Amino acid sequence: MFKNQFPFFTNKPEQVYLDSAATTQKHDSVIQAVNDYHCSCNATVHRSAYAIANEATKLYEDARDSVAQLINSASSAQVAFNSGATESINTIAAGLQPHMISGNKILILASEHHANILPWQRLAKRLGLSIQVVNISLQGQFMRSDYETLQKQLNKDVAILAMAHVSNALGNIYPVEEICRIAIQQNILTVIDGTQAIAHMTVDVQKVNCDFYVFSGHKMYAPTGVGVLYGKIELLDALLPLRLGGEMITRVSFTDAEYQAPPLKFEGGTPNVTGVIGIGAAAKFLMANMDEIKRHEGALFESLSRGLYNRDDIRIFGNVGANNICVSDSISASKTSTIFNQSIGLCSFVFNKHHLNDVAALLYQENIAVRVGHHCAMPLMNLLNIGGTMRVSIACYTTEQDIQYFLETLNRALNSLCNSELNLDNSAAAA
Ligand code: PMP
Repeated sequence: MFKNQFPFFTNKPEQVYLDSAATTQKHDSVIQAVNDYHCSCNATVHRSAYAIANEATKLYEDARDSVAQLINSASSAQVAFNSGATESINTIAAGLQPHMISGNKILILASEHHANILPWQRLAKRLGLSIQVVNISLQGQFMRSDYETLQKQLNKDVAILAMAHVSNALGNIYPVEEICRIAIQQNILTVIDGTQAIAHMTVDVQKVNCDFYVFSGHKMYAPTGVGVLYGKIELLDALLPLRLGGEMITRVSFTDAEYQAPPLKFEGGTPNVTGVIGIGAAAKFLMANMDEIKRHEGALFESLSRGLYNRDDIRIFGNVGANNICVSDSISASKTSTIFNQSIGLCSFVFNKHHLNDVAALLYQENIAVRVGHHCAMPLMNLLNIGGTMRVSIACYTTEQDIQYFLETLNRALNSLCNSELNLDNSAAAA
């Protein structure tokens, strides 16, 4: 139902695109909004008072309002635009530096993306802080026991908790609302990386009650190079901006400067106006369709995970592949009150007998795009004792035919690899 709203698939009807966790295709309304801006009011924003500049500024600020509405931010001032989740987390980590004291601990989850590890590593090294890791099971599940360990780790020595809402490598949904509730009681700052959540579920930052929430536009049908830093207003006020330059000031002398209030204080330099207008359109699309998106993706995810789960030649990681639960329990978990074993949007797995790249090469030949590798989560792969996984990820434009075609092609690929190995064995025996 959504596929025909994505012009990419009109141009590439044969492409089965199952790498949406890496980046999504762009929605028609996004392409249209960006095109309209370029064609009818291309001017920079916040700087001039002539008509098209005013029009551009209005589009830019309307986009901010739409994104604020999408995440239920109490005000648009709490939504700052930048180049993506990576920049958002770097901004938070660098901006918090003056507020940290030696000995503070930073808590992260074992499944974090490098973007939610490296900025904290640098902060820790600079200030003599330590990084503590919340482990998950060796199957990549977030179990009740992991949650209980995390609860214990959230103690008064911890200054910051940085974790994903949804893991890009495993698809696990983490119970961020419950976790933030405990963290706040201990005065711990919470930084939630919502990059893999934003296109697939309703995000309510006031309900989660986190201090910061970040995401990238290109994983939610908007252009690349635009992202969001949401924060509680008093924290954005206190946070030092990372990007210093034009427009983020109220007064500058040769020796000193006064910064604007948030969000403009975080938007130094000429902003990515097209990206922002695009993310505004994407936010509107998501708000108008989220119920249908959840229903559609839920059904696809069930087909995908069931198709994979029934094979005995692969090993699935993450909540969906949990060995001790039935796959349908995991999928329906979001409908029940349990906060464990929930997953979304992607399946991550390895083959018992074959190399990831060999299987991927056969899928690529059949126009199927999947991702193999460490998914920018190398520490997690080390913990799971694997080099990487094959990750199959869906979005609203994915269809049941895509999933069935993938499962059938995977089956053929694995059979042909088994047969070619058999032939090799036979000819070796014959020789
Ligand atoms: N966090 C997560 C969970 C991600 O999946 C990604 C992108 N793979 C990032 C952070 C970084 O996003 P970006 O590269 O768009 O800044």
